[in-house]
Amino acid sequence: MMIQFSTPLSELKNTKRFLPKLKKLGIETIKDLLWHFPFRYEDFSNIVAIKDLKIGQYATVQGVIQSIKMRRTWKRRMFIIEALIGDDTGSIRAVWFNQRFLITMLKKNIRLNLAGKITEAPEGGLVMSHPVFEILTYKKEKEGLSHTGRVVPIYPETKGLTSKGIRFLIKPLIDNMEEIEDFLPKEIIEKQNIFNINKAIRLVHFPEKIEEAKEAKKRFAFEDLFFLQLNNLRQRMKLARERAYSSELSVDEIKELLSGLPFELTYSQKKSLWEILQDLKKSHPMNRLLQGDVGSGKTIVAVLAALVLAKGSKPAVAEAMAGKQSAFMAPTEVLAKQHYETFKKFFKKFDKGIGLITGSMAKVFYGDGLESDIKKKDLIKKIENSEIKIVFGTHALIQKYVKFKDLALVIIDEQHRFGVKQRSELLKNKSSEAVPHLLSMSATPIPRTLSLTIFGDLDLSIIDELPKGRKEIITKIVAPVNRDKAYAFIRGQVKKGRQVFVICPRIELQTQINAEQTQNDAEIIPHEFASSNLRSSVSGLRKSALLWENAKMVKEEYEKLSQKVFPDLRVGMMHGKMKAKEKNEMMKNFNEHKTDILVATSVIEVGVDVPNASIMMIEDADKFGLAQLYQFRGRVGRGEYQSFCFLFTESGLKSAYHRLRSLVEAKNGFELAEKDLAIRGPGEFLGEEQTGIPDLAMKAVRNPELVKSSRQAAEDVLKNDPELEKYPLLKKRLESFQQEVHLE
Ligand code: ADP
Ligand code: MG
Repeated sequence: MMIQFSTPLSELKNTKRFLPKLKKLGIETIKDLLWHFPFRYEDFSNIVAIKDLKIGQYATVQGVIQSIKMRRTWKRRMFIIEALIGDDTGSIRAVWFNQRFLITMLKKNIRLNLAGKITEAPEGGLVMSHPVFEILTYKKEKEGLSHTGRVVPIYPETKGLTSKGIRFLIKPLIDNMEEIEDFLPKEIIEKQNIFNINKAIRLVHFPEKIEEAKEAKKRFAFEDLFFLQLNNLRQRMKLARERAYSSELSVDEIKELLSGLPFELTYSQKKSLWEILQDLKKSHPMNRLLQGDVGSGKTIVAVLAALVLAKGSKPAVAEAMAGKQSAFMAPTEVLAKQHYETFKKFFKKFDKGIGLITGSMAKVFYGDGLESDIKKKDLIKKIENSEIKIVFGTHALIQKYVKFKDLALVIIDEQHRFGVKQRSELLKNKSSEAVPHLLSMSATPIPRTLSLTIFGDLDLSIIDELPKGRKEIITKIVAPVNRDKAYAFIRGQVKKGRQVFVICPRIELQTQINAEQTQNDAEIIPHEFASSNLRSSVSGLRKSALLWENAKMVKEEYEKLSQKVFPDLRVGMMHGKMKAKEKNEMMKNFNEHKTDILVATSVIEVGVDVPNASIMMIEDADKFGLAQLYQFRGRVGRGEYQSFCFLFTESGLKSAYHRLRSLVEAKNGFELAEKDLAIRGPGEFLGEEQTGIPDLAMKAVRNPELVKSSRQAAEDVLKNDPELEKYPLLKKRLESFQQEVHLE
């Protein structure tokens, strides 16, 4: 029977009984099955004469069963099958445990291959335990071996379906598969010097040599990267066709704005601002990611962009045209409020309305201290008629009832904390004919190859310096024996008037997970890293929540510190399960130095700015990712004081220590990101399930050459044929790729 991709698995002979198990592996069609790639290979291609076998060797033995018997162990718990296999040069024992069914298949005088590791039996002599076997029938010899005497693929398995079973299913498919037309254009295959699809599929499963499997995987990795790039570039082209509000201020006007600030922008702030302002002049939407270390001053750059739009176009046209709206979305109330306050402080003279809207707050401000609380309903009205030009807020901003009149710019702070959906909600444009510009901000630096791949639809602006005068934060890993010393040091700092953050992994496990599912406050958005076009999910989060089981709990820690360790100091507590109002209260107390020590969960991971805080102490530091630790550390060292970061760990694992060391040693966030990527791999780095990026592409991200060439190839194809009209197969495949990885 000729097999086609579209043939359902259930129509194949011999597959029926495997169907439920295949389904468990996510395999329902022939295509799924063929794309179920081995994750490694065992080289049993060596058929070795029995007399030449050596201990420790992986080999295939070809011979005849000379004897076979089954017995039970003396405790009668286990069945042992023992066989003696002989070839012209000698014989060797093979044993299997608890596989009674084998006795019905393996009989004396059967000719077969056994593949596995050669070991020494306790009682002496060579033995193969649990070898893979392949009975040498006439048909087998004609069609070729699957399990022995060759390089053998090892697959992701599931209970009741081993690699052997999967090989059994795939081998005949490959042998009988009709050649398919490659959806990658011929020119690309030639230029990249990669396998065509038929060869790649054949050799990814059954290579003659392991190198061939590598080449085959390279083809698939290239393919995935190529599709990601096609998607990125087409995304860009699509945006270029959309209309956006544009705005431009004169150099003098910009200078005037800047002159009100209590500091001068750093060089990279200026450069980033300039890049953004160039985009805002254009009448199609910006799609830009502003990356910069914690504390590098991203907020002010974003706010200036909003101001330029609020002030309106030059030359000022009719009043009605002047001033377009911006929405500034932050992941937490605390942060939204802080941005709003910052704006008020820096731009007292701004004479148009700004607003703050969160789950629990609504405020408006009209310059010169005219601030007032306002009913949410009324604020929404003012947003609707564009009386309010810049609105700071949390998710509250994307509620259906908030409608902008002329939304020109969406700013998303700590963008990795928002899911795609939330971003697209804001972008969906509740206003008129224009699509808003998008400025995302992130403090988590991403290695270049990775950002090219997954944020390839975005333009990048990078702030890679801190404002002048910041001191390096002294970072130390603290072993349990030095805990008291660290406490004494902390006390000393507090006596000097400083403040301290203490971070613990999560509050109680179970409730936290529930809270994360239901609560709509932003702090619980999983720390994932979706780009503007990648899906987000909470499943990874739930898995990781289990890791917190043994973690220190905030409440416990709070009680310990406030009652036993520092009964004389003022200790506060903050976690994601508290009501927004309580959290604000706690944050306010800390801000106003009414508390000395704030014990918190990752609630404070983002953005919080308390210049007087000089110590960041992290419990169970090994339980956090490097990027997250980096964010925590950035909470201190924001003022004039020498600051410290103490990483407490009770993990004796070398790897954990090693990881923490890299935080101590890294000079900047980018360096750290490279390390994080190297240590944990892109999957972990980005939060595996959440990225939706195909596995091979993820691995390939470590291969800058492949990333570059895939991008070049995508550009070449689209340059002449943006709609892919000449490549219908490619177009179709791209569409299903987009669905598979949830790019749309
Ligand atoms: P982040 O990039 O982490 O969001 P922020 O925007 O919160 O950083 O800025 C951190 C602090 O640095 C804020 O208090 C801000 O007012 C201040 N700041 C920003 N730019 C400068 C500058 N050029 N010089 C001095 N201080 C600055
Ligand atoms: Mg910030």
